[in-house]
Amino acid sequence: MYNNFNTNRCNNCFGADCTKPSTKTKIVCKNCKLIKYCSVEHQVLDWNAHQPFCKAVASVMKATNADHILGCAEAILDKCDEERDRKRQLQRKIDCAIFLVDKVLNRPLEYHERVLLQHPVMCNVCQDVSSGKLKLCRDCHQIAYCSQDHQEQDRVKHSKWCKEYALNFMLNHVESKMTYLTHIPELDDISFPCDNYELARAITGQELRKPSPDIPAIQQLEDLKYATNFSWVGTILYLLQTTGITDQLGDRLVIYIVGACKEPIYFNRTTCAALFAYLPKLQTVKLCFIGPELLTTKGSVSINYLGGQKVENMYYRSLYHELPRDSLEHPQLIVSMNCGFNDINNAAHHTWPQTIRFLLDIKNVAFAFTSYTHAEAIDDCTIVLGEAERLYEEEKFTFVKRAAINPFRDLQPLRNPDILDEKDELYYDNGYLSIAIRN
Ligand SMILES: [Zn+2]
Ligand SMILES: [Zn+2]
Ligand SMILES: [Zn+2]
Ligand SMILES: [Zn+2]
Repeated sequence: MYNNFNTNRCNNCFGADCTKPSTKTKIVCKNCKLIKYCSVEHQVLDWNAHQPFCKAVASVMKATNADHILGCAEAILDKCDEERDRKRQLQRKIDCAIFLVDKVLNRPLEYHERVLLQHPVMCNVCQDVSSGKLKLCRDCHQIAYCSQDHQEQDRVKHSKWCKEYALNFMLNHVESKMTYLTHIPELDDISFPCDNYELARAITGQELRKPSPDIPAIQQLEDLKYATNFSWVGTILYLLQTTGITDQLGDRLVIYIVGACKEPIYFNRTTCAALFAYLPKLQTVKLCFIGPELLTTKGSVSINYLGGQKVENMYYRSLYHELPRDSLEHPQLIVSMNCGFNDINNAAHHTWPQTIRFLLDIKNVAFAFTSYTHAEAIDDCTIVLGEAERLYEEEKFTFVKRAAINPFRDLQPLRNPDILDEKDELYYDNGYLSIAIRN
């Protein structure tokens, strides 16, 4: 419903000046106390869209006699003092609020409604939610404190994440300006890129700058959005190199992208040029996107470059293990991006084990998967290991990488709904990488 959404910005205009938003979101909705506006006019304009959620929140507050939606579980939860326990408690309050609001609305919450309940404005130390007292961190505008004291107390811990919160706060405001290449650049310097910026610079010839204090923020944000388009192809290049597939390649490369959904948009004319630029012997790349949630329904799309190189994108809207076994060409690499093997709330959770067993059965082909957070990456590896143990009698495969940070992860920080996860307060698409090979 909202293209741009952030708890701390005007819900209607999103704030025109993305570097100075705090002065522009003075009005908090009196009913739900969760959403902000820059002006009464914008509050009125947003009312139709906001109303159902707002009324549901207010009715849960009334029924539970709470001043704030997070007070809805007060009666059933004990007080606690330990910080870790307080966080655990907070997670329960949030889960309870989501459950009750969901029940009143009688439909699943929209993404932005969920975020409002998951990350309401509150003191980052004592969880005080009384909005009159709260002041946002001046650098990121995302984390609030009830007092100077509590801000001071949290300074060291928050400083680790403040920059990423600031990016999270500003990024939605900026569009990526992707331009499309028609030919593949010949790289003078073929040395392997270290990140998405270096990769994007080499392929497009554009001077892209990382966020730093001395360039206008909006320019850096556009550059970041541009560079991050290369995360998917960058991850593939990195996988080919790490597994040594690069050295054995002829002129043809076949990759399965399993559990695919929106992935095809990241493999476009510009980003795919990187495959040929860094692997100059290649003539044809065949990308098989496989998954029941695949957004594209067309059978296939070809991208042809002036030098004769070609990318064949094949779309299979199906579960991998339900495809006829001989309908696909043998791959050199299998990838599942932001795989979510561990995600028990996801319907795909139940179909993954079988797919994983089928994939692990393909000999000598690297099976790689990316995960959002380190904790999820560990769980994803455990699931793969479990399926391997069911499949083979003895140890027949090794992890080349296991829950490693992906140097080509997406560049846009997102807030982690798991507030107990202190390792990744914010996370990224393709954040962590694991590679299993059956030998
Ligand atoms: Zn506004
Ligand atoms: Zn409201
Ligand atoms: Zn406080
Ligand atoms: Zn901050």
